Order: sequence, then structure tokens, then C-alpha cells
Amino acid sequence: MTTTGTELRTTQLLIGGKWVDAQNGATYVDRNPATGQPLAEVAAASRADVERAVAAARTAFDEGAWPRTPAVKRARTITKMVQLLSERLGDLAALEVADNGKPLWTAKGEMGAMLENFEFYAGAATKLYGQTIPGPSPAYINYTLKEPVGVVGAIVPWNFPLLLASWKVAPALAAGCTMVLKPAPATPLTAIELGKIALEAGLPEGVLNIVTGPGPETGQAIVESPLVDKIAFTGSTATGRWIAAEAAKTIKRVTLELGGKSPSLVFDDADLSKAIPTTLAIAFMNSGQACVAGTRLLAPKSRLDEVKRAIMEAIRAFPAGDPSDPKTAVGPMVTQKQYDRVQSYIRKGIEEGAEVLIGGEGHPEGLAGYFVKPTVFVNVKNDMSIAREEIFGPVLCVIAYDDDEDAIRIAN
Ligand code: NAD
Repeated sequence: MTTTGTELRTTQLLIGGKWVDAQNGATYVDRNPATGQPLAEVAAASRADVERAVAAARTAFDEGAWPRTPAVKRARTITKMVQLLSERLGDLAALEVADNGKPLWTAKGEMGAMLENFEFYAGAATKLYGQTIPGPSPAYINYTLKEPVGVVGAIVPWNFPLLLASWKVAPALAAGCTMVLKPAPATPLTAIELGKIALEAGLPEGVLNIVTGPGPETGQAIVESPLVDKIAFTGSTATGRWIAAEAAKTIKRVTLELGGKSPSLVFDDADLSKAIPTTLAIAFMNSGQACVAGTRLLAPKSRLDEVKRAIMEAIRAFPAGDPSDPKTAVGPMVTQKQYDRVQSYIRKGIEEGAEVLIGGEGHPEGLAGYFVKPTVFVNVKNDMSIAREEIFGPVLCVIAYDDDEDAIRIAN
């Protein structure tokens, strides 16, 4: 597996155990966000391709071996995947960096968590117990039995590509489900590697199908398919809302993991030399592209000047730069579109009356990819767009509060 070479990869769809091009031959270019250069030519699945992938998963569920395989044998296959994944963790981390732009140390941590997740679910496969329930008389035996849901459509975003795919793939495989996995268009490459590893580990054909392509076409076709029993989605609140409504039409089960705008509360007795570096680390994690990022810092009015000074001091430890440099804390945004989105929020913050303490609009000097300056706004009011909407970039809003009650009210 090459990860940083200049040659353009080409990738295909995984349908029914075979790697195939999109039926109409469509592809799109996936770029390295740190350089803006093309990284891969990726198959763009149309509705017809999704229908083939769903049909393969349906057949594998209704007629295939996987759901009928004893749990201990399913666990063995997942354990084999764990072994193959663990041999390739370094390559997978480097590939995630090239595709997503996240700092390498972040990607390495994620690959460790991804592996543990597969290990956990290899064990869970044999422990899917039901319950016995006391009935009205000894003539009745009431019990629940855990059964696989069926065909799962797993739709994954670009911020933690393989880790979030593992959260969906590992439990579904452990339970005996079959799947159609759709990675985000901007970050499909580690999912493709996962597909190769699954086949190598002996996962029967059609159990894990992978379709790459744009959300509104490829993703929508999965959600709309009457042959899919469940959707597991992580991504934006807007898309999640649409999925919940659409899935209702075919009574699909749905799991949604959506956006956030989390506060960090710094109280007036805090040791700022510890609190401020920690709040910056939480705000700028994964270059700010995380639903759990602490993007609002609530600071006591009585210590606001000290907080600002502490931020100016601590932010030196969060430079933007080459994601493979171990000193880099903040990588590029994942796409030009995401870069534009973050820039538009920085402009909006200024227009709405917030003040840039550090950072601001434009590229950091000398960085050609989709980099933004780690930015801290002060004088932010909690009703401003930058305090209410998910920016998904390294932008922290400092909001001053009067007392603890005021802080909790603003946080909530
Ligand atoms: P998105 O919700 O559009 O994309 C997430 C996944 O859903 C991708 O695989 C995408 O192709 C797919 N998708 C898009 N439209 C779909 C549809 N109609 N039907 C089925 N699948 C569809 O998110 P985005 O456009 O990539 O990012 C926009 C914003 O969403 C970000 O700026 C951020 O605020 C938020 N976001 C949140 C998370 C999170 O972890 N909660 C992750 C990514 C993005």
C-alpha cells in the first residue's frame, strides 16, 4: 500500500465480493487536502450500482452463510480482520493523513481505537444474550432472542473515516448482519482498504459491500432502498434529519450521530495554566473537525484579561502545518468546500461584532493546501452564528459570563 507517492490511485466498488467499476464508468477525483493535489480517481456509484450492492447484501443475508454462521465462527473471522488490520496500522494511519489531512499522531491514535473496536466486537459476537422474563404461570416461557437486523446501510463522514466506519461495521458483522458501507466522498481510501482486509480474512462475498460516491446520489439511494433494514449514519444534522424522515417511509431502524457545539466552562478559581491549554486542545482536536470539539469557551468576566493572555501563550503549542510533522497540531480542512465554509464563518463572526484575538481570515503563511489559521474570537455573544452553528474548523469562541449560574445557562 503506497500512501504518499505521487502516483494516482484508482479505486473501485466492492459488490458481492468483487471489485468493480461503476456501471456507467463514472469517477471523481479525491484530493490530498494538505496540497490540494489529486490523490485518487474514485469510482462514483450511481443508483444502479447501489441497487446492485444492496441486492448482494440482501442475498447474503437471506440466503448466505453469514447470519447462519455460529457466533464463535463469526468471531474468528473478525479476529482475523483484527490481525490483518494490526499488521497494517502504520500504512492505514498514513493513508488517512493523505486523504483527510489530520495530523499523523491523531491518525495513529485513531487507528489504535479502531483496532480495539474490532477486538471488542470480535468478543461481543459470542455474547449477544437475550433475556428470560417471568410469565403469569409456569405454563409460559417468555424470552427475548437477539437476532441480526438484516441489511445495514452505513453512511460515514470524513472527519474520522476509518474509526467511524469501524463503529458501524464491527458491531453489524458481530451480530450477523450484512452491509452496504458508504464512506464520505472526500475520504474513501481507508474504507477501501478495510474491504480488502475483510475479503482476505474470509468474510463471505456480499456481506460487506462498499460504494463510494456523492451523498445526495449514492447515500440517498441506500436510504431509499426498501431492501435495507437499518441505517447507521454519522454526519451533519441536516442530512440526519432528512434520513430520519425518509427512513420512516419504509419503517427502517435508524441510528443517527449528529453535530454539536460543546462548551468548555472555566470557573473563576481555575488554574489557567492548566485549563487554557486543555480547552484549546479540545477546541482544535482533529483540526476542529469534530462533533465533540469544545468550540465555546465560557470564561468568568472577572478574569477575562487573564484568560486572553493565557490563550495567547498557549496557542503557540497549536501550529497549523504539514500533517506528517509531529509538531503539527492543526492540519488542513478536508476539502476546499470545508475551507470556504470555515472562512465564511470567520467573516460572519467579524460582521456580527466578535473580535479576532488571534488568527482570522485567510491561509497561514506558506501553506498551500486547505489550511486555515487557528482562530480565537473574543467578545462573542451566545446568540451569534459562530456561537450557535457548527463551524467544523479550528475556531474557538470565548464567551464571558457573570457567575456560575450564568455560565451554566449559556452552556445549555
Ligand atoms: P454530510 O452530513 O452531508 O455527510 C456525511 C455523510 O453523509 C457523507 O458520507 C455524505 O456523502 C452522506 N450524505 C450526504 N447527503 C446524503 C443524503 N441525502 N443521503 C444519504 N447520505 C448522504 O456532511 P458534510 O456535507 O460532509 O459536512 C457538512 C457539515 O456537517 C460539517 O461542516 C459539519 O458541521 C457536519 N459534520 C458533522 C460530522 C459529525 O461527526 N457529527 C461529520 C461530518 C460533518
